[in-house]
Amino acid sequence: MARNAVQFQKGMSLSAFLERYGTEEQCHAALVAWRWPEGFVCPRCGGRAHSFCAPRRLFQCSACQRQTSVRAGTVFQASKLPLRTWFLAMVLLAQSKNDIAALELMRQLGVNYDTAWLLKQKLLGAMLAHNAERPLSGLIQVDDAYLGGQATRQPGDKRGRGAPNKFPFLAAVATRDGRPRAIHLRPVPGFTKAAIEDYAARNLAAGSAVVSDGLSGFNGFAEAGFAHDPIKTGSGKRPSEPALTWVNTVLGNIKAAITGTCRAVRHHHAGRYLAGFEWRFNHRSNLAEILPRLARTALGQHPTPLRSFLTAEVAG
Ligand SMILES: [Zn+2]
Repeated sequence: MARNAVQFQKGMSLSAFLERYGTEEQCHAALVAWRWPEGFVCPRCGGRAHSFCAPRRLFQCSACQRQTSVRAGTVFQASKLPLRTWFLAMVLLAQSKNDIAALELMRQLGVNYDTAWLLKQKLLGAMLAHNAERPLSGLIQVDDAYLGGQATRQPGDKRGRGAPNKFPFLAAVATRDGRPRAIHLRPVPGFTKAAIEDYAARNLAAGSAVVSDGLSGFNGFAEAGFAHDPIKTGSGKRPSEPALTWVNTVLGNIKAAITGTCRAVRHHHAGRYLAGFEWRFNHRSNLAEILPRLARTALGQHPTPLRSFLTAEVAG
């Protein structure tokens, strides 16, 4: 049987991981190389000349004397965890097929639950910010979806206005040559025309063309200036239309994964959980490079204030 080249990638084995990133020194050297590929740059003055204080792992700028660590100003800041714990968390989170529960992270990392939970939220938060800067382009299939509700749309569902106890999100899949290329899983306030128009204006590249079912709110794509092909499907049924195959496949997988790892996702956290699925899907094609890619994602984002993660009693 032909095997899917993406699914059967090797990724990084535990022994390869330990060989490359088993010590704090190795992790520090890798992070420095990923943050400053051309060599140290002072975050205050841009100077390159520096000295390095090895015991405290601090860089001191020769021009302005500013002392900086490789963690400063990134997601890794203000954490007492060793970098090797962060690295293991990153590889577990990035390489997991769908999601890794905080409880599982706790066991694998040897930290307490709150620490594992917060670490996961910080990495998901970095993925969320990274995703937000990446518009979709080309031919795009979209569908409406909900977290916390039933998986299939029922007759009489309050589509467009938001049903109670559900968290609405838009699923979009950009395809090329009939294959999925990149996805968006974005929370929306509802499936009104205004909400869709707002999503489209912010998140789709000019010239993109959208295929959807006939939900009236999807007319917001045309309002935002995009070519839009609404496919009429039977009322109350999930479309089996070939033009929407990928968005339905991706959605099905994500719903199965979310129910598999999270007993409940609170509204407050849903955007970050979705961001994790989106990031993993969009980086799935090169598992061997997934750790440096997640590290660069985390290095590229500012530290998240703790208060944005409070109300942390979610299971996931
Ligand atoms: Zn400086």
